[in-house]
Amino acid sequence: MRRSVSVLGLLCLGVAGGCALHDAAEVPENKPMSLHQAPFRISGLERPGVSGTVRDAMARVPRHEFVEEEVRPFAYEDRALPIGFQQTISQPYIVGLMSSAVEVGEGSKVLEIGTGSGYQAAVLSELGARVYSVEVVPELAHAAQVRLAALGYDTVKVRSGDGWQGWPEEGPFDAILVTAAAPRIPEALLGQLANRGKMILPLVRDAGAGETLLLVERDDDSFTTRELGAVKFVPLTGGSESHGLTLQELHHPRASTTQPKS
Ligand code: SAH
Repeated sequence: MRRSVSVLGLLCLGVAGGCALHDAAEVPENKPMSLHQAPFRISGLERPGVSGTVRDAMARVPRHEFVEEEVRPFAYEDRALPIGFQQTISQPYIVGLMSSAVEVGEGSKVLEIGTGSGYQAAVLSELGARVYSVEVVPELAHAAQVRLAALGYDTVKVRSGDGWQGWPEEGPFDAILVTAAAPRIPEALLGQLANRGKMILPLVRDAGAGETLLLVERDDDSFTTRELGAVKFVPLTGGSESHGLTLQELHHPRASTTQPKS
């Protein structure tokens, strides 16, 4: 995707022991300046599970544009960072892992639940996807929409609403990424997954014990699953038992369970 990226007035100077924040006005003349510039390489992505295509896509996304000013010096470190409203932008390795696992490519139609800063959506857009992203906090949804538009990500649509319901008018989706910890597998999202489509979500196993990153693949009216490891996400709010399935219920549907249509 071709875009112009505005360079911030924040500079990360190569100081031993870390980066410091400086105003442009404070930088003495004739001193070399190290700005955030493409490629936006993030340390720690060279691990198993992140494809080269996804790594390259992430290197095109200016992550510093998606975080609060005070933490911009840490934008290219492999860690989650605050984005306000007690929410966080996910750790880049996890963004890379989730994006790789659902095999998003040119022309994929993708649903994201939990827009947050919009960073994950931008990565999916760089992979060639048309992205539909739902965020429950209206202020975050609005800020992400404005940010993504300013950066030229015009293949991303953001809406404020309850992610448990998905985006039924736009389904089915080739891939669905849930970027908040779900106590159950949202049933509406299973119904909006295309056949052979893949959904990834952090599923709460035992309250307080973190989540397992669950990859779900649809095969007509049944689903296969694979656990990719332990993760920690902010909670997916709302929803009740009736909105979702346990892993066991997914594999052994009760007669009363609504199965998605083919
Ligand atoms: N993908 C984001 C980070 C996600 S943080 C990024 O790249 O920055 C998790 C987000 O999920 C938060 O913004 C939170 O407000 C949102 N969220 C939590 N519960 C939700 C729900 N029920 N529906 C939609 N969004 C929800």
